[in-house]
Amino acid sequence: MTPATTFAGRTVALFGLGGSGLATAVSLQAGGARVVAWDDSTESQAKAREQGVTVEDLRSADWSGFAALILAPGVPLTHPVPHWSVGLAEAAGIEIIGDVELFCRERAKTAPDAPFVAITGTNGKSTTTALIAHILAKAGRDVQMGGNIGTAILSLEAPAPGRCHVIELSSFQIDLTPSLAPSIGVLLNITPDHLDRHGTMENYAAIKARLVHGSTLTVIGVDDEPSRSIADRHRGALVRIGVAVQDVDGLIVRDGIVIGRSGEGIADISGIGSLRGAHNWQNAAVAIAVVQALGVTGDEIVSALKTFPGLPHRMEQVGRRERVLFVNDSKATNADSTEKALTAFRDIHWILGGKPKEGGIDLLEPLFDRVAHAYLIGAASEAFAKTLEGRVPYTRCGTLDVATKEAAEAAARSEAPEPVVLLSPACASYDQFKSFEDRGDQFRALVRGLIG
Ligand code: ADP
Repeated sequence: MTPATTFAGRTVALFGLGGSGLATAVSLQAGGARVVAWDDSTESQAKAREQGVTVEDLRSADWSGFAALILAPGVPLTHPVPHWSVGLAEAAGIEIIGDVELFCRERAKTAPDAPFVAITGTNGKSTTTALIAHILAKAGRDVQMGGNIGTAILSLEAPAPGRCHVIELSSFQIDLTPSLAPSIGVLLNITPDHLDRHGTMENYAAIKARLVHGSTLTVIGVDDEPSRSIADRHRGALVRIGVAVQDVDGLIVRDGIVIGRSGEGIADISGIGSLRGAHNWQNAAVAIAVVQALGVTGDEIVSALKTFPGLPHRMEQVGRRERVLFVNDSKATNADSTEKALTAFRDIHWILGGKPKEGGIDLLEPLFDRVAHAYLIGAASEAFAKTLEGRVPYTRCGTLDVATKEAAEAAARSEAPEPVVLLSPACASYDQFKSFEDRGDQFRALVRGLIG
């Protein structure tokens, strides 16, 4: 744990006692601050009390004694409307910050030269964060990974000389981190997302841009227009990454080969199962640029890439029976994400469905020739059957267990060299599962049961 000492001796208000909020309260207390915290959930309140945190309704608190409001990143700062605690903090004239800001202040105070890699972007944050941490760990570095992925930032070990923090940041977290100044800042890509929370695309892009403005070295994926324009306006050390765009002064990826500024091949990722697809080529090239800047050698990078296990539920290879490959892409909760998986495979026995999203699967039509058969589950079955009718043979299976069994049997009968049973639902999971993780875990268990 990192004790946050910059509020020692003072009292702060904290709203939001979910995972990272509670960790923040504990860290502030360990650093000598007094914390008055609130959350609407009685369960979260109870957990905080167990940790010795003072839990008190901030609506009726005396705000004149607070030095700051520490806000959890899930709580609206600006859009659609500021949370009531934001209004009270503004009226009291105190700053509103998040846990990453507390980390940054701690780093500035105790180990300002400690490497700090901050990763943001609309898609690929977790994969890239995990890949960078993996390569650094394989190269023998002292690595701490967390933030928006896995462990809350203040639950990690404290910044120290030579210790590298690799931190995934959502735009909500960036919004709450005014002094963000990582040694390496990464912007992967920007596509419309969370506009309900950021108002407009311009505002969303501006928040993402803030991360790179404060960085000593910046790495930017320039395949999309908003990111390209941030790169073009950037003053300071910059590595551009191009996959769809090849005319780039930086690293590019061509046919799965990462190529450096002077045309030298750095790594061939075309055969790495955990990094399939052009989207993962972007993630891998970004990770390579980061670890190169941290002094990891070419040989170390190449061998570490090969052992990257990938993240669960994102085109995760969960098994193989003879020629048939089983892939869990349960994280694909919309057609955009499923598009990546359909592009990465052929002879696909595709399990899809669940709680449908707006637009359905219409945009996937150009990829239907890659699908041997579709197996429909959940609430979206009827709508998806209509889209597939006459284009892709399909079976209404109802539930995941039936779909997995039928898909596995049909794939085994297929004459294709490597048929793929792919769970990539293009739907939310809540009609039949607790979460996309639960759906993916159940699929993995079903596959293990089938292949023994
Ligand atoms: P995030 O943490 O930003 O949500 P993940 O690494 O968890 O990203 O990947 C989530 C999904 O986003 C993947 O299943 C894939 O469909 C898609 N994705 C991953 N990387 C990229 C990328 N670089 N560009 C576009 N889409 C991506």
